[in-house]
Amino acid sequence: MTNQDKEVFRDSIGTINDAGGRNFLHPKKPVGIFYKYRTLLSWLLLTLLISAPFIKIKGNQFLLFDVVKGKYNIFGQPFWPQDFYLLVLSLLIGIVFIIFFTAIFGRIFCGWICPQTIFLEMVFRKIEYLIEGDRTKQIKLEKQAWNTEKILKKGIKWIIFYILSFVIANVFLAYFIGSDELLKYIHEGPLNHINILVKLGVFSLIFFFIFAWFREQVCIIACPYGRLQGVLLDNNSVVVAYDYKRGESTNGRSKIRKGEDREAKGYGDCIDCKQCVQVCPTGIDIRNGTQLECINCTACIDACDAMMDKVGYDRGLVRYASENNIARGENFKFDARIKSYTVVLILMVTALITLLFLRSDIEATVLRLPGQMFTTTDTTVTNVYTFTLINKTVNDFDDLQMKLISQPGEIKVIGTKISLKRESLKEGTIFITIAKKDLTSSKTKLKIGVYKGDKLIETTTTNFPSPLILK
Ligand code: SF4
Ligand code: SF4
Repeated sequence: MTNQDKEVFRDSIGTINDAGGRNFLHPKKPVGIFYKYRTLLSWLLLTLLISAPFIKIKGNQFLLFDVVKGKYNIFGQPFWPQDFYLLVLSLLIGIVFIIFFTAIFGRIFCGWICPQTIFLEMVFRKIEYLIEGDRTKQIKLEKQAWNTEKILKKGIKWIIFYILSFVIANVFLAYFIGSDELLKYIHEGPLNHINILVKLGVFSLIFFFIFAWFREQVCIIACPYGRLQGVLLDNNSVVVAYDYKRGESTNGRSKIRKGEDREAKGYGDCIDCKQCVQVCPTGIDIRNGTQLECINCTACIDACDAMMDKVGYDRGLVRYASENNIARGENFKFDARIKSYTVVLILMVTALITLLFLRSDIEATVLRLPGQMFTTTDTTVTNVYTFTLINKTVNDFDDLQMKLISQPGEIKVIGTKISLKRESLKEGTIFITIAKKDLTSSKTKLKIGVYKGDKLIETTTTNFPSPLILK
């Protein structure tokens, strides 16, 4: 077989047939230790995903991404649009972390943690197995005419799929508008909130389309992370891999024949049972090597281990291994690339922690009232300003005061005392009066402090214009 022949599998993808139409996959239900652990982890992650918008910490939603109101909660901690730099840095850390993790462990995220895989493989696919049976029964049902059995099975499956999609759409909405708002809409009745109901219906249809039809194509065609594998992985990365040295030996793979001396004939341990192909949810043959479609779901490891047990060979013909491990027996190396990712990650996390510690509870802005000139007396100059105070915490602040730090002078707040409720914003007007003798230029830079009692909690700066000739 020439190298070109060996690469023929790259000319097509398992989900598209020769005519260019959709090839609907019917992967066999995996059974094995990895599937068991993935199931356990998926229940944990599903519980987290569904409950996160309904968990409150000090009355604050655990995770909230209200883009319209510009309100974000991460682990119950409120963030404001003013903290956007922290969000950007966190996202960058997330990206570097994924790159770092992928360089070491391949697409482990896709197989074990990604919500798409979890919902598809651990929820929708399991319901499908329950209603339509395993691979062989599903293929048979697919081929048969639309008789009562097929209409009933498909009908029940699609109704359940749509209900589940509707539930997912509701949870999804709770992340964006807040669970309190969502529960209020439910309590007041959907007919009183038709626009929300329509939006939910549309989102449910999108989820239904993804989980009932589009499925693994999200990972193969749509997901940008999948496309990056070619540059993120190298021969040192640990991925789900077929040990071609052991599987092919000197004369390739071959089916088991009774009484045959496989060793003498140079056959490897692969008995060409194709179980690894039948369980694959993306329709590939792992024996062709690492491929873009592989989401590292481990189903082929479980399938092959089961076959190895049956024929009395050692497990691990398909296993977590790097190319270097299979080709040269080398163990994972902490090479220069991984070291540099580690340094970048440590630096970024340190920067984020420092910024989080430096982040003040209250953010103050003081700006001159547009169009207003200073006023003077014989001895003083006065300017009018507007101020904005944002309370980023879940605590109330009563009786806040603003004082000049940079020089002597007086700040007079118009109206009552400044009180700030939790996660609120206050705007108002202040007069700043400074004695002429304390001014040295026509535009003095002022530093203003926001105090709670004697405690300084935030500082801000502004300019103070005054007549050119002061004295
Ligand atoms: S090749 Fe194996 S690990 Fe990769 S997607 Fe298929 S079954 Fe999962
Ligand atoms: S399951 Fe294992 S033995 Fe069977 S074809 Fe795949 S790699 Fe070969």
